[in-house]
Amino acid sequence: MSLDLKSLVRTIPDYPKKGILFRDITTLIEHPEGFRESVERIAATYRGRDITHVAGIEARGFIFGAGVAIALGAGFVPIRKKGKLPGETIGQNYALEYGVDTIEIHAGVVGPEHKVLLVDDLIATGGTAIAAVGLLRRTGTVCDDAAFVIDLPEIGGADKLRAEGVTVSSLMAFQ
Ligand code: AMP
Repeated sequence: MSLDLKSLVRTIPDYPKKGILFRDITTLIEHPEGFRESVERIAATYRGRDITHVAGIEARGFIFGAGVAIALGAGFVPIRKKGKLPGETIGQNYALEYGVDTIEIHAGVVGPEHKVLLVDDLIATGGTAIAAVGLLRRTGTVCDDAAFVIDLPEIGGADKLRAEGVTVSSLMAFQ
């Protein structure tokens, strides 16, 4: 019988603030089979699709994205918060509930000859993922696929990302 990955995700109410149900993947990755199976299921969807790079969003996207990159024989591109990457960068601003944030990648790391899969742990409003796809596409690279461990479909981020021409997959959904 296949492993019930959803049962390995812990829900913590009122974190980081009141009213949020935080879906905590640390309990999933602490479970050896749960972690391996999550990475393998994502990789299985994209095998044979000529993905050259997996781009993971800081910080939990690094955990799953790195595993998927190894499983696909692809490179890994870290998408980091502003000021963390040591080389020349290109950045993209995106709106938060209050204020703006910036994500960055190293300039020149991907271009038109590459095909990039975006990976993160969870999609909620889609703001982070849409900014990440926009940033990657500005390099001329193909970024038409995004994979998440968790989707919160009622918030609608995955549908917004699809409207940008991105094919979205997830391993589980929470209402
Ligand atoms: P968003 O830009 O709204 O799609 O938010 C996505 C990012 O915020 C992801 O990188 C998640 O790690 C984090 N996040 C948003 N909502 C939650 C939640 N309910 N539980 C855990 N992480 C969340």
